[in-house]
Amino acid sequence: MIDTVHQLRCTGCSQRVTQREARSNFRCADCGELFEVEYPAWSSTSVAVHAPALVHANGSHYELPNGLGAPSLPTQPRTWMPNASALRWLWKERRHSALPIDQSGVWRFRELLPILENPNDAVTLREGNTPLLGMPRCAQAAGMERLLAKHQGMNPTGSFKDTGMTAALSVARERGFEWVACASTGNTSAAMAAYAARAGLRCLVLIPEGKIAWGKLSQAMDYGALTCQLRTDFDGCVRVLAEVVEHYPIYLLNSVNPYRLEGQKTPALEMAEEMEWNVPDHVIVPGGNLANCSALGKGFQEMKHLGLTRTVPSISVVQAAGANPLYTSMQTSAGRELTPVHADTRASAIRIGSPASWRKAVRILEQTGGFCEQVSEAEIAIAKAEIGREGVGCEPASAVTLAGLKKLVKDGRVKPSENVVLLLTGHTLKDSEYTIEFHRGNLLSEGEARGYESKIAPLRSEMPVLDASADAVLRVLAAGVS
Ligand SMILES: [Zn+2]
Repeated sequence: MIDTVHQLRCTGCSQRVTQREARSNFRCADCGELFEVEYPAWSSTSVAVHAPALVHANGSHYELPNGLGAPSLPTQPRTWMPNASALRWLWKERRHSALPIDQSGVWRFRELLPILENPNDAVTLREGNTPLLGMPRCAQAAGMERLLAKHQGMNPTGSFKDTGMTAALSVARERGFEWVACASTGNTSAAMAAYAARAGLRCLVLIPEGKIAWGKLSQAMDYGALTCQLRTDFDGCVRVLAEVVEHYPIYLLNSVNPYRLEGQKTPALEMAEEMEWNVPDHVIVPGGNLANCSALGKGFQEMKHLGLTRTVPSISVVQAAGANPLYTSMQTSAGRELTPVHADTRASAIRIGSPASWRKAVRILEQTGGFCEQVSEAEIAIAKAEIGREGVGCEPASAVTLAGLKKLVKDGRVKPSENVVLLLTGHTLKDSEYTIEFHRGNLLSEGEARGYESKIAPLRSEMPVLDASADAVLRVLAAGVS
């Protein structure tokens, strides 16, 4: 029934399929590209091939709240345009509701992601509704007049993955799967394990042995996942899992799953709502598997298409220099070809050499006028410490956004007066070992830190060991140790 409300469009050859026709690896049978979710009634790209849209198999109309625009007739599947003011009002009102799906920052916007037969069946941990925070010290460090950060690390499992997971895992449960699976650098496995536990599903996690942060691994184990450490890197885990899903009835929840992106587009809606339905000039995201950039782009583009906002921000991607396949692709072939790289960075969440969603990311960079930048290990560590000094904090991968912004401002690609939002993807506690090593002075090699010593020193927090006396503490205070 829900297949009449949404369909999957191949981003390579534009072929449309229903969710039940999609292959278990979510790649197009004809061209091998990834799909995106399309709504025949209102998507700007849509060509309805599974009409009648918005009509259940029993003939009743798919329910839309009163006053939100007339549902389209079966013969006119592309005519639903919402009453933008009514939608904005409804989404705000739901913040006061006691219903779990209204308290979710994803399902609160469910009119723009009608992917479930019954939204009340959504598996939710009240994700989303994350803060948009002013970052005055970071603004100064980057040469900006002002700067905002959307902290997706404030989600239930501490990363941006929760918004996508509530969407895709709800689809898995509705379709009757007993097992779900992902390959992960850590955050995806934590999110999937938590939502699978809530839904009563079994979950399989494939992680690269010894290469994910302990905080993330502990989450997957705490939530009861079957966690297999493979003797390979993240990209190797992805390859193995692609074979597993061919041989076992298990639902793939990596970001190739297009329903993940439907949840991950909602931070764009939240940003617009938090900015009184204006959008920033520029949003900067970390670049790992590269689905986040296309998800946000989709959210902003859909809002503009539906008349909820007037513009789409530039969306830029920043990668670690040690895991920079998109950056290299943009430099050498303007994004036409991508050669996988051996990924090596301490920012483990973006330690990905062969990103699945790179073509989608290139498209969003081109459509929005965004940039792709790379930053060094020292630049990441400094930016992370600066975000920490705001009382905000983030995991290392998130800090590439601030480090990249500094470069964009320095060479004039971003003007100091622009409204920029950094997308912080993970909580600082996701990788506390990194933070402690930085403050102890053990994180970076001499070579990596060379030339940055004067920036690093004032950002390091001291942790002296003292005798148990007030005098000893008072002496430290008098010396002004920070
Ligand atoms: Zn295709």
